Amino acid sequence: MEDVVEIEKMDLDKNPVLEKMLNTEHEQVVFCQDKATGLKAIIAIHNTTLGPALGGTRMWMYNNEIEALNDVLRLSRGMTFKASISGLNLGGGKAVIIGDSYTQKSEALFRRFGKFVDSLGGKYITAEDVGISPKDMEYVNMETKHVSGLPISLGGSGDPSPVTAYGVYMGMKAAAKQQFGSDSLEGKKVLVQGVGHVGETLVKHLTEENAKVTICDINKDRVNEVGKKYGAAVVDGEDAYDVDMDIYAPCALGATINNDTLSRLKCSIIAGAANNQLEDEKFHGLKLMEKGITYAPDFLINAGGLINVYREVSGISQARAMELTENIYDTTLDIFKRASNQNITTQEAAMKIAQDRVNAIAILKSRR
Ligand code: NAD
Repeated sequence: MEDVVEIEKMDLDKNPVLEKMLNTEHEQVVFCQDKATGLKAIIAIHNTTLGPALGGTRMWMYNNEIEALNDVLRLSRGMTFKASISGLNLGGGKAVIIGDSYTQKSEALFRRFGKFVDSLGGKYITAEDVGISPKDMEYVNMETKHVSGLPISLGGSGDPSPVTAYGVYMGMKAAAKQQFGSDSLEGKKVLVQGVGHVGETLVKHLTEENAKVTICDINKDRVNEVGKKYGAAVVDGEDAYDVDMDIYAPCALGATINNDTLSRLKCSIIAGAANNQLEDEKFHGLKLMEKGITYAPDFLINAGGLINVYREVSGISQARAMELTENIYDTTLDIFKRASNQNITTQEAAMKIAQDRVNAIAILKSRR
């Protein structure tokens, strides 16, 4: 009871993360702790109006719990928008495990985490994210059935990355149509930053269309291997933002569109797979608009992987999932049109469509 009184007394101004949680209207945030296995995790359920909250679990060496909380709140909110704009009956959720993914993993830790996921009774469905492997998810799956994106051999839908890359490619073509009047990427200079699972497949699509591709990655072996395989030029990570390019495709980290990079980037389109590319959604979205750069909102064009995983929840076919991913082209064009008509940023236009769908379905459900 004493603890409750303490929380009531807390000054929200001095607790910006808690204030943010209330402002972003998260439905439920669960802190999970188990001393025996060393598990420290947070599960954030942002919104379940459209369906169960689906989103991956990330394992990361956060500096402290507040940093982890901040990340999981931001990521889970993004999942609500991503599912909504893609027309999926899924809500937004995400989980983070605080720890070193190289040294702190164990079967017991993931099974304990699985028990916490299970305790939510299907309101949250987990999946792989940064720092988590299919093997880890197999352990989680031993304690709960609420796991998605497992390998095909385990009855899952397999690696979502190729579908994500295809959606990004569709979004990029729509951006080219908007900016250049044609969706052909032939001869266009494209910088792909990060050639991991998604980046490499995107490079494949681009080189097949005869785009002039330059790549960078902090993993030297990987970047050289991909460069050689597809005949792409390789640039050092530090110099990447200064490269002569038409299109910048961030496929590594978030927040790469910020005050520093905006003064360096010479592109006219930004379209990539990374989540939360704009360091400040409003401010940097506006800066891109002022600079005449066409920005394809990340949560819209990188939704292919989520659409693929949705097969497991909804039972839609692989062909239908590819069709929905291909639709990213039309949705992206529609967003550009709305943004231009309403004189708002593309990010704002996309968020508005996503939020409007959640609101409309909430009203519908309240009448039942
Ligand atoms: P990945 O880990 O396979 O690849 C990321 C690559 O980026 C790695 O090769 C890594 O070495 C490189 N990298 C890391 N930091 C870098 C830096 N500072 N500069 C250049 N390269 C750097 O990840 P992925 O599955 O290909 O996903 C790429 C991005 O897309 C991530 O931000 C991810 O959250 C997002 N995303 C992925 C999917 C999916 O289906 N895999 C879906 C939606 C969003």
